[in-house]
Amino acid sequence: MRRVSVLGATGSIGRNTLDVIRTLGGRRAFRVVALTGAGNVEALAASALEFGAEIAVTADPARLDDLRAALEGSGVEAAAGPAALVEAASRPADWVMAAIVGSAGLAPTLAAAGTGATIALANKECLVSAGGLFLSTAKAAGARVIPVDSEHSAIFQCLDANAGAAPVRFILTASGGPFRDWPLEKMRDVTPKAAAAHPNWDMGIKISIDSASMFNKALEMIEARWLFGATAETLEVVVHPQSVIHSAVAYADGSMLAQLGSPDMRTAIGYALTFPERSELPVAPLDLVALGRLDFSAPDETRFPAIRLARAAMDRSELAGAALNAAKEAALGAFIAGRIGFLDMARVVEIVLDRLATGEPARDLEDVFAMDREARRLAEAEMAESAA
Ligand code: NDP
Repeated sequence: MRRVSVLGATGSIGRNTLDVIRTLGGRRAFRVVALTGAGNVEALAASALEFGAEIAVTADPARLDDLRAALEGSGVEAAAGPAALVEAASRPADWVMAAIVGSAGLAPTLAAAGTGATIALANKECLVSAGGLFLSTAKAAGARVIPVDSEHSAIFQCLDANAGAAPVRFILTASGGPFRDWPLEKMRDVTPKAAAAHPNWDMGIKISIDSASMFNKALEMIEARWLFGATAETLEVVVHPQSVIHSAVAYADGSMLAQLGSPDMRTAIGYALTFPERSELPVAPLDLVALGRLDFSAPDETRFPAIRLARAAMDRSELAGAALNAAKEAALGAFIAGRIGFLDMARVVEIVLDRLATGEPARDLEDVFAMDREARRLAEAEMAESAA
């Protein structure tokens, strides 16, 4: 029986993963090793009981008693805190979904990769902030990495269909978010609530605002660099408002292969789980006739400078990704709190990237965390100075 763990089991990707596991037979077909969460201990315990998990871990030590109480008498182990997350992620499993949000996912995902398990990778930070380190750990342990982000899953699927030939171009599609056609002047006054309303995908507030600013696409560009060897020259971002073509690759003979599908993360999750097979999933099939048309345009890098900033970061080491991501997170937090405007986020990130030396590769996670801290400090200092 296949042994699976889900890190970040209570989140949007984690819940969709458990849904796919349930659809494909649940505990009759899979042995669930570890499930992890943070604040949502009730959902974590309910899933651990449903799937008969070996261990359930909350990131928050203050919630351990609640978790223990909910699991009492079930035989499911309960644990809490960052070290327990790493220990659970290190337990032998065949397949691990890495879906903890943010840099908290780095250490557990790296630990899971070190066991040689297949890693279904949703957590962007592993590649954006620690790409070289993460991939060399996975390679040394013989762990296969299968991307779950829908764009990278699309490229992975296209490459799989054409094993052997190297693409000459990678086309990363972007919905363009709610402000795709807004003039710059109007974008200045955007509120966090308006920015969080994504037209096609139902996601958490931070990733939705990142989509509106196209910083999510910036992170995906850096992910594509590590996953597929895409460069600033071979990677093209194309705005495609319908989010039906999830991404594409172009070959030297003029062919372009694309992957299309409904905007439902269960397709990418299911593919990562059953690769190289495909399974039957309750995902709405695409109706091309009903769709009628698909639109494309080039992103406007004046209104969406995140694309330009990512291109600059792609040519440097993973520490440039770590700096971009940390400065972006600090600026995003300030935007949500009403301290800075929507367009200020890219301005802050650009200033931080200009000030930090990010050419040398990270030697270990401590290098990544040190860069993360320094970028956040600089971003906060810049925001405080402009507010004064
Ligand atoms: P959510 O915020 O919905 O879920 C995050 C998960 O991480 C939850 O299980 C949460 O626990 C847990 N968590 C929160 N804080 C910590 C912490 N400090 N330590 C350990 N665990 C923690 O995020 P998503 O599921 O939307 O996204 C997960 C990852 O996948 C992100 O990196 C995102 O960028 C990426 N991704 C998401 C997509 C989507 O469609 N949602 C698409 C592509 C990529 P709890 O809920 O119990 O607090």
